[in-house]
Amino acid sequence: MARRGASRAPKCPSASTMASTQIRYAYQQLFVAADLARRRLPLIRARADAAGPTLWLTACAHGDEVGGIAVIHEVFRRLRKQPLARGALCAFPMMNPFGFELGTRHLPLGNEDLNRAFPGLADGSLSQRIAYRVFETIKASAPDLVLDLHNDWLHSIPYTLVDPPLPGQRAIYERTLRIASHLGLLVVSERANDEEARIWQSTLSGALMAQGIPALTVELGAARIIDEAAVQHGVAMVFNALHRLGMIAPLAKTFVHPSLETFGQKLLHYQDRPFAMTSGIVRFHVRAGERVQVNQLLARTYNAFGKVLERLRATDDGIVLGHADTSVALPGVPLLAFAIPDLPELPTPAPPGPKDLREDPASPGEVPSA
Ligand SMILES: [Zn+2]
Repeated sequence: MARRGASRAPKCPSASTMASTQIRYAYQQLFVAADLARRRLPLIRARADAAGPTLWLTACAHGDEVGGIAVIHEVFRRLRKQPLARGALCAFPMMNPFGFELGTRHLPLGNEDLNRAFPGLADGSLSQRIAYRVFETIKASAPDLVLDLHNDWLHSIPYTLVDPPLPGQRAIYERTLRIASHLGLLVVSERANDEEARIWQSTLSGALMAQGIPALTVELGAARIIDEAAVQHGVAMVFNALHRLGMIAPLAKTFVHPSLETFGQKLLHYQDRPFAMTSGIVRFHVRAGERVQVNQLLARTYNAFGKVLERLRATDDGIVLGHADTSVALPGVPLLAFAIPDLPELPTPAPPGPKDLREDPASPGEVPSA
């Protein structure tokens, strides 16, 4: 049985203790394996001379979602030329090294989903122990924002995903929505009843939100293989965040993904319907990023002789976030995902300029109430 590693855990320093601009590479030790290999979580920290906000980036909670790792590499590489003006940027680039090695979403031991194990347990299962180390380290730094980087279907566009609020968490939800509106990507909110919302609280972003820490899940295009265009979008999104937090010199131009031209500052909700009702071979008629109208043909399913079994049509106007990585249709299995604009406007982003998001005032009517 693997024994637990040493408890000394390098913490992302609070901004007030920073002495100079530097990037450091460290580890969180997890355990020593049977072959005496040390299993560790890599941790990167950049700090400016001047005190300021703390931003965290996390990636690869799902072992096959590798694009966020490259985003983190590129962000820190760019910081060598464009250093932080103030504050700290910290990152866990590979939270699930076990899944990464096998190219699987879950941890192979026990088939656990790390992003359903937060806030974790110090002496729990492997996923709970990793979650605990990650969560406690992030929380101890009292961050201003946490961006958890994920990847979606191979054919998908990037978007930010805001966890649904539980009763009593409306304020942090609305604060996080305001932050999301400045990142240059579509802002998509899960719609869930209270029971479903509790499930989302076992994600890293949901568990942080429950602690009053603004946190967003960011879906950055294809999983399994690094999509260089998606990496560029992710890096630009992170620099939008650094800019908005006042942690870097003003950007010459803030990043806006082309998908925002479709629905602008609408708050969208996530939808993965209609499901196929048949078992068959699916051929898609829409692409990721395409705007669709209610009743538009989305896909057809066929049997082995080529007979059409089913036509899937859009249930709402929206934008296609992506479609499945497979052409195997099964009853009740999602084949497409959409962002549906039936929620109120998000706040209009303020003009570029250093601004601490912690001080973003909430004005009446600025954020949706539904
Ligand atoms: Zn994921």
